[in-house]
Parts: sequence; structure tokens; C-alpha cells
Amino acid sequence: MESGSLDLRALVDGLPAAELEELRDAVASRLCREKYGADTIEGLLAKWGREPSCPCCGSSGAWLDGHTPAGRDRYRCPACGARFSALTGTIFANAKLPLHKIMRMVEVMCHNASLRLIELTCEVSHSTAFIWRHKVFSTVSGWQDRVVLSGRVWIDEMYFEDTRVEREPGAPKRSGLSRDKVCVVVAIDSFGRALAVVSENGKPSTRRINKALRTHIRRGSTVVHDCEKAHNALVRDLGLVDERYKAVTTDPVYLEQMALVNHLCAWIRRYVERFACMRSENLQSYLDWFVYLHRVHRDEEKWPVEERVVRHLALSNTTYLRKW
Ligand SMILES: [Zn+2]
Repeated sequence: MESGSLDLRALVDGLPAAELEELRDAVASRLCREKYGADTIEGLLAKWGREPSCPCCGSSGAWLDGHTPAGRDRYRCPACGARFSALTGTIFANAKLPLHKIMRMVEVMCHNASLRLIELTCEVSHSTAFIWRHKVFSTVSGWQDRVVLSGRVWIDEMYFEDTRVEREPGAPKRSGLSRDKVCVVVAIDSFGRALAVVSENGKPSTRRINKALRTHIRRGSTVVHDCEKAHNALVRDLGLVDERYKAVTTDPVYLEQMALVNHLCAWIRRYVERFACMRSENLQSYLDWFVYLHRVHRDEEKWPVEERVVRHLALSNTTYLRKW
């Protein structure tokens, strides 16, 4: 071992607990700066070109006006006089964690970590991990609204137990596609663009299929699906080329032709089932995040995942309201 590293070891061993904690924080901050180009939230927002804009009237051109009680730069709106910090209107508002911890949480969330794993790797409490997960989710709420699939588009439905349904203790689960199950309409196209939309409970009607997919498939595309009758109106209204396979799970042709959407369903199921305590009313948030990450991972070679997600978070306008 080199003498330099021996000295460092001795130094670290001799530090009192509080100073050791300070050292760890300093090391983590430096690594964060080297990786993300900033070690403070303000620095990160500035790096991605986020201009402080007034949360009340939306005006830009705010000037610096002292500091907030938390010691952050305070701005004043030239139009309406409102005072705010650079963090106002971002998911980082009121953040008490150092940037390096937030970035570590985001990193593990890029791999769909469970809450317990976020707690362990980021050394935060359960409730902090929970709140940050929902803050991050809030930035992709509505993100799927803009998704439009084209070319060949595979569609299917999948079902999850509805946690809102209360069963008598000991009563057997109802079988089949009962009203006890939440339906998710799933679609993916030949470019790898995906969509997953919660659509009420039980087997979907024509109306529900239209509501879930109508604005998300380009006219004239080819739709590849099982022979579900509820799809017919969509095919007709959007002038889609209809390619259908009877859902026989022993038929190799069906399995081959539907493999893409079946794989997507399997990935979604594995993802959702990881969150054992998730409530059904939050299912759409989890799916929004899944589909967003699916897109980001698809483009990974052009744009590294973590950098792209961090930019997205820095530029998102969001007011996270705790509902739970
Ligand atoms: Zn204003």
C-alpha cells in the first residue's frame, strides 16, 4: 500500500463521527459536481438554463432581492412584485436534502428501485423516499398525452387486482375479468414507442378503447391485435389497416405476431408487481414513469439516461401536492 493512502486511512480513522459525516458529504458533493456539473440545486437549474420565472404571473426578468430564510437567493418579480426562489415551481422547492442525495435517488429510480432500496442506497427515511418518488412521478404526469404511435401498432389489454375493492375476510377471489380488476390498455409501435393507460375496471367497451387510444394512433396505421370486438370502432374511425390474430396461446403464429406487445405486458407486470403496497389510484403514475423510462432507455445510445432524466427534472414545472 502506498504511504499516501495509509495517511488518509489514519486520518479517516481518527475523525470524530460528526467530521466523518462532513467528509462523506464533501466527497459525495464533489462526485456529484463532476458527474452532473453542479453540487447545489440552484447550480443544477442554472446549468440546464432554467430562468427563474414568477410563480404568480409567469413574468421573467426577475431581479435578485436578498435571501430566503433557508439562505437561498431570493428573486422579485418586476411585474407583480412577488418574491420567490429559483426552486419555486420545481420539484426541488422546499427540498432539504443535498443535491447529491437527490441525484442518487433519481439514479436508482431510473432502474425502478423499490422504496426500501431507495432508503438503503440514499440513506433517507421511508417517508422521504416515498415523497421523492411521487415528486419525480409528478413531472411525467400527462407526459403520455403527447404519445402518438404509427407504422405497425400492437394493442392489448392487461389486468391488475384493484386494491380499492374490499373483500369480505375469507371470501374467495372472483375469477375471470371481473369488476374487481383494473384494466390497462397497452400499445407499442414498430419504432418501440409505448403507451399504457388505465381504463376503469373489467373488460373494456368500445367507448373505453376509443377513449384510451383514439388520440394516440396516427390515422392509416396498421393495428395488430387479437380479435377483440371493442377494437372495431377504433379501426374504422381511424382508417386503420386491420391485422388480427385469434388469441390462442398454443398457436405459434399468434405468439410470434403478438410477441412485441406480449413482452411489453410482461415487463409492465413485473414492474408493477414490484411495488407490493401500491394503491390502484396511483397505478397511472407508476405507468407514466414506466413509459417515460421506456422511451428514455430506447434512446440511450443517443442520449445517456441519467443526464436526460436530470435535465427533464430541472426543466419541469410542477407543484407537488401531497395527497397521501
Ligand atoms: Zn409576477
